[in-house]
This record gives sequence, structure tokens and C-alpha cells, in this order.
Amino acid sequence: MKRVGAHVSIAGGVAQAPGNARAIGARAFGMFTKNQRQWRSKPLTSREIDDFHQAMEHGGFGADDVLPHDGYLINLGHPEEGARQQSLEAFIDELERCRLLGLNRLNFHPGSHLRQIAPEVCLERIATSINRALEQVPGVTAVIENTAGQGSNLGHTFEQIADLIARVEDKSRIGVCLDTCHTFVAGYDLRDRASYDQTMALFDAVIGFHYLKGMHLNDSKPGLGARVDRHHSIGQGQLGVEPFRWIMNDSRLDGIPLILETIDESLWPEEIRLLYGLMG
Ligand SMILES: [Zn+2]
Ligand SMILES: [Zn+2]
Repeated sequence: MKRVGAHVSIAGGVAQAPGNARAIGARAFGMFTKNQRQWRSKPLTSREIDDFHQAMEHGGFGADDVLPHDGYLINLGHPEEGARQQSLEAFIDELERCRLLGLNRLNFHPGSHLRQIAPEVCLERIATSINRALEQVPGVTAVIENTAGQGSNLGHTFEQIADLIARVEDKSRIGVCLDTCHTFVAGYDLRDRASYDQTMALFDAVIGFHYLKGMHLNDSKPGLGARVDRHHSIGQGQLGVEPFRWIMNDSRLDGIPLILETIDESLWPEEIRLLYGLMG
């Protein structure tokens, strides 16, 4: 069973998200739980939480169908201790918002060393932040997204993600989200069947499919290994349609949210239909 959807808007409140997903024919969705460009936002009210639960039920969605994304300001590996602390507090708040909404995972980008500390030191800081956050909030899995490796962003190699997982104390509450655009621009090819199989085998060997808690399905504007994060609509970028056919027919990817973050949201209903049409 494949669960394809898109990262939908929460304009008008978090309770809008399930309906927005339903309206485009999605069987899963991504969302923010607050304004992603601000440090602070008002706590969720019991009314907002109740409305969200109702909308989830009405849309036929369960917690496993939702992959919330954290805000853009958070850097759990920030070189400056005060800034890392601010990020940690914001991350804990995001986990708590997910928990209150009955959701069970939070997707985040690991962090950046900003060329001020060594990557290994930054990874250690990220892992410490994850451990502290998981201690504070029960029931929500922290889902590390692989990155494009743009600038000083870490998490673009499978080894760095495995390194983070190794340092997390509660392995039952750490997971991974593979973004197809990021994977490709980080240097892992997916464009022909042999390279798709090889990249996925490498993922399994270095990280392990049991940690995979979601995927972002994006085509890529930049080429292999460009380390530039620019998504494209499915079939219109460097990846083309075929890798998505293999994904849609890969039973290792059953049951997890497969979320479009493609650039033209007016195409999402069509892209979802296209993806389901690639099956079988
Ligand atoms: Zn992504
Ligand atoms: Zn991206």
C-alpha cells in the first residue's frame, strides 16, 4: 500500500491540512505545525487540537500518514551555544505540538556547521540536541531528512546520518526521511535501474530500511552531485519519471508517507494520479 501526498498548507489553522490533502487526492501529507519562518508561535488551543482530530477522521487519515516538518530557523548543531539552545527549545516545542496533534513523527534537517566548527563536532552537537529533545517529549520519532549538502548543511551522506543514529540513545524514536532530489544532488544516482538499486542497497547497508519513516518525492533541477537544493515537478527535472516508477513499485517503501514538495502545487493532483498510475 503506497501512501502518496504533498506538503499542504496550514493557512487558516492546522485543522485545514487534512482537508487540503483530501482535496488533491492525497493518501498522506506533510505539514508545518506553526509558521515555519518564526521562532515563536502561540500554543495550540484545545479547540485547534479537537478540530485537527476531527479533520483527520473526516479525511480518513491516521498518524502514520502524516509527516510534519519543523521550521526553517532551527539548527540543532549551531556552533554557538546560545543559538543551539534556542534551536533546541524550538525543536522541543515542535515535537510537543506534534504530540498534542496525535502525530508520531517530526521531519527535520540535521543542521549546519556554518564553517565555524568541524563537521564531526557539529554532528555531536546535533545528536546531543536530539537526545535532550527526545527526553522531553514522549511518543514522537525524530525523522532526520537527508540533505542536498548545500553550503555547510550536514546530512547529505548516508554515513553522516548513520553516525547521528549511532549517537542517539533511544533508537526506537529516530528515523530517516529520504528526499529524492537531495539524494540525487548529494551524488547518489537514481536515473537508471542499476543505479537506483545500488543507491537503495547502499542506503540499506549504511542506514537500514527499518529506519525509513517517510520520503519526499521531488524531481531535481540541478544535476547529479551539484549539492544545490532546487526541486522540480515530477518528470520535468534531471530525474525524469522512471525513478518514481521504481519507487512506486518498491515494496520496501510501502506504508510510509511519500510526500511531494514539488514547485507547482497546481500540479499536485495530477502528480499524485501520475504516481499511482505508475504502479503494477
Ligand atoms: Zn525534502
Ligand atoms: Zn529540498
